[in-house]
Amino acid sequence: MTAPTTADLRRARDAVRGADLVELRLDGVQDVDVDGALEGRRCPVVVTCRPAWEGGAFAGSEEERLRLLQRAVHLGADYVDVEWLAASRHPAFADLTRWSSDRIVLSSHDFEGVPADVHARARDMCRYGAAVVKLAVRAGRLSDSLRLLELVPLLQGGQRSVLIAMGEAGIATRVLACRFGSAWTYAGAARSIGQIDADVLLSQYRYRTITRETALYGVVGLPVAHSMSPAMHNAAFAALGLDAVYLPLPAADVEDFLAFAEGFGVRGASVTIPYKVPLFERVRRTDDITRRIGALNTLKRESDDWLGRNTDLDGFLQPLRERHVVLAGCRASILGAGGSARSVALALGSNGARVTVHARDADKAARVASLADGHAGEWPPRLGSWDLLVNCTPIGMHPHVGQTPVPAEALGTGLVYDLVYNPPQTRLLREAAAAGCGTIGGLDMLVAQAEAQFEWWTGVRPPAGVMHAAASARLSEWSSR
Ligand code: NAP
Repeated sequence: MTAPTTADLRRARDAVRGADLVELRLDGVQDVDVDGALEGRRCPVVVTCRPAWEGGAFAGSEEERLRLLQRAVHLGADYVDVEWLAASRHPAFADLTRWSSDRIVLSSHDFEGVPADVHARARDMCRYGAAVVKLAVRAGRLSDSLRLLELVPLLQGGQRSVLIAMGEAGIATRVLACRFGSAWTYAGAARSIGQIDADVLLSQYRYRTITRETALYGVVGLPVAHSMSPAMHNAAFAALGLDAVYLPLPAADVEDFLAFAEGFGVRGASVTIPYKVPLFERVRRTDDITRRIGALNTLKRESDDWLGRNTDLDGFLQPLRERHVVLAGCRASILGAGGSARSVALALGSNGARVTVHARDADKAARVASLADGHAGEWPPRLGSWDLLVNCTPIGMHPHVGQTPVPAEALGTGLVYDLVYNPPQTRLLREAAAAGCGTIGGLDMLVAQAEAQFEWWTGVRPPAGVMHAAASARLSEWSSR
């Protein structure tokens, strides 16, 4: 908890729900007052006053900082954070650490990366006999968390510790704290260092139920912070009571993901942009449809090897099946010639539809159309030239919600299927409905492809509606921001 004044800090402290321990950051408080910060507390606290030289906001002298920390110890604060560098440079901080060792969190932060001397640093920190040793480093890659995992054996034998990799790529250290032997994890709103809100950690990730045995899944891509997949898959795991958790995995490159997945025993992953093709090229065991698409969206670990599959095709067809749409002989116009257009063309072509692909690049359109024995058409398609129109471009997607790929005048009768799911109701779908067309939004496909992934990994179908509700909730959260 950080706040501009002591009164605000106290209010923020008392508003925390679900935490076992609240860290009170005195640095950044204008009228810093330890007594005021601790008064009337209802929950155990860690008192921290981080100096600017260790990434904090305290600009006063070291003497003043020492006095504040000593006062916190005197007043019975449950824990007081002392920087390892302060203890190693100033005897007075080292004395405070030794005299009050049972309440000291001895901390070290590196905001640049994983320091080369991280092992030596951890060993030196253990010498002080502090209650908890906290090492926080910056993760530039998912696999940087493996460097912290190497410290676990070193810290065993009575020394309590907290190991954190800051940044989005360090999410495993925050959610899977038990695998790092961490005494606790840090939650909060500081996104730049990868913090997750306490309520998300507790409800979406089910932090308190995670053990070393909990199966790990995730979505690999870059970026993945916007992904709906963690909300959907975690909701399904929770609904079925499965001991599994699903994380966003922002891999720096394919090697980064593979190293992380190997090190942490990832059992399965959804794959998104930009790794659908590069991972397809790395994985030897795929099925015929996936090979024809030339990209995968799902990985599954089996017998120390990766199996790849593309569930987009089935995901696309599912909402059409539910509406009993007859594809044989149907005139289908696909807008766009990218990755999703390839799956859609194959799905439609293999079900007997007569496919035309419309894209701003005619050559690309022709290549995609050939997957379905179709042909390239003009951009945009003419009124009355289709029975089914599928938007496989990102036009109309958040934040460009005012855009549409086809002018309202060109929308006659027929069925319009927009793959865009954010927002769930695009301008294209609104104008299509007004023109008398049937409509299908991208959320249905998103959910259907995720349900197929989940079933492939676990052998169990998620309960109907669970993933849809989780994705809808995440989307409304998004639009209310
Ligand atoms: P992609 O591989 O990047 O392909 C996008 C296609 O749209 C390309 O052909 C691109 O043309 C074209 N395009 C982009 N902007 C355009 C514009 N202003 N005018 C004309 N054409 C334009 O993307 P993707 O993976 O196929 O995804 C496309 C959309 O589908 C995204 O919004 C994505 O979120 C959505 N999607 C939804 C689901 C789902 O489950 N609902 C699944 C997959 C994708 P160029 O090649 O000329 O650039």
